[in-house]
Amino acid sequence: MPTHLRELKVAPGMSGGAQFFEDFLRRIDRYHEMRDFPAQKGPSYLSVHLRFGTVSVRQLAAAAWQQGGRGAQAWLSELIWRDFHHQILWHRPDIAGGHAFKPQYDALPWPNPPGHFEAWCAGRTGYPLVDAAMRQLDQTGYMHNRLRMVAASFLAKDLLVDWRLGEKYFADKLIDFDLAANSGGWQWAASVGCDAQPWFRIFNPVTQSERFDAQGRFIRRYLPELADVQDKFIHAPWTMPAAEQQRTGCMIGLSYPAPIVDHAAQRVRALDLFKQAAYVS
Ligand SMILES: Cc1cc2nc3c(=O)[nH]c(=O)nc-3n(C[C@H](O)[C@H](O)[C@H](O)COP(=O)(O)OP(=O)(O)OC[C@H]3O[C@@H](n4cnc5c(N)ncnc54)[C@H](O)[C@@H]3O)c2cc1C
Repeated sequence: MPTHLRELKVAPGMSGGAQFFEDFLRRIDRYHEMRDFPAQKGPSYLSVHLRFGTVSVRQLAAAAWQQGGRGAQAWLSELIWRDFHHQILWHRPDIAGGHAFKPQYDALPWPNPPGHFEAWCAGRTGYPLVDAAMRQLDQTGYMHNRLRMVAASFLAKDLLVDWRLGEKYFADKLIDFDLAANSGGWQWAASVGCDAQPWFRIFNPVTQSERFDAQGRFIRRYLPELADVQDKFIHAPWTMPAAEQQRTGCMIGLSYPAPIVDHAAQRVRALDLFKQAAYVS
């Protein structure tokens, strides 16, 4: 079985949940250092068990509290995020119907350029970290948290596609789909939610990649067409000289797409979208 499937294979039922948690407790002390690097086994992978109720969140929280230390504290704060989103949904059930938490953002005129949403779903945007993330989702039903933030931000603020399309796509694909957490995550990334990422803060998909997958280990796992690309080109393969493309057999525009948009230009358009709509003070 390919490594990524073995890695994410979900042991079902309460015994499966207990097994995942036992495994995670051996790693919990390093959670705060490891959790952002998708090539590492950093997080707990317990979301699917939490979603189906095959672990008790009270027991998890009590165990983390008892364990103490920076790793357990960081993890406890993630469980609190889960609770936070559930509270928001309870108090604002309208967000389940695709409404932004901040109503003034409901009518933002997302351009939705043709083909962009489809390229994002297929993992063919030309930005390796985003594409690897989307293929992880497609192949396993899971996506690492850092990548959910990057992929969601990219759809809304680089591709200028309405975040609700991405929210629906995640809902269809995620094995841990949770109405409150998914809606909260998307509204955070698109800067339309409660306690959201400020609208002027836009992830750069290349620097995120350099920072969180420096050697491109995660990228190569899901994008075999980039397997032989050198580390220095792996985050932005379109910068490979023609001779290097020949040598590695990775022809940009043929074996792997050229970037669908220019991040710097799209960043300006995204800022204009938020500014022009006069929804910001
Ligand atoms: C756009 C977007 C969509 C998301 N959709 C979902 C979803 O449908 N279902 C879901 O469970 N989580 C969702 N999340 C939150 C988070 O990405 C996942 O909970 C996490 O990746 C699950 O992996 P894990 O169990 O290994 O996490 P760990 O890092 O081990 O975290 C432990 C638990 O804390 C909770 N948690 C962690 N981060 C968050 C968060 N940001 N918001 C709410 N709860 C959190 C989850 O229950 C998770 O299982 C989404 C985040 C974003 C940015």
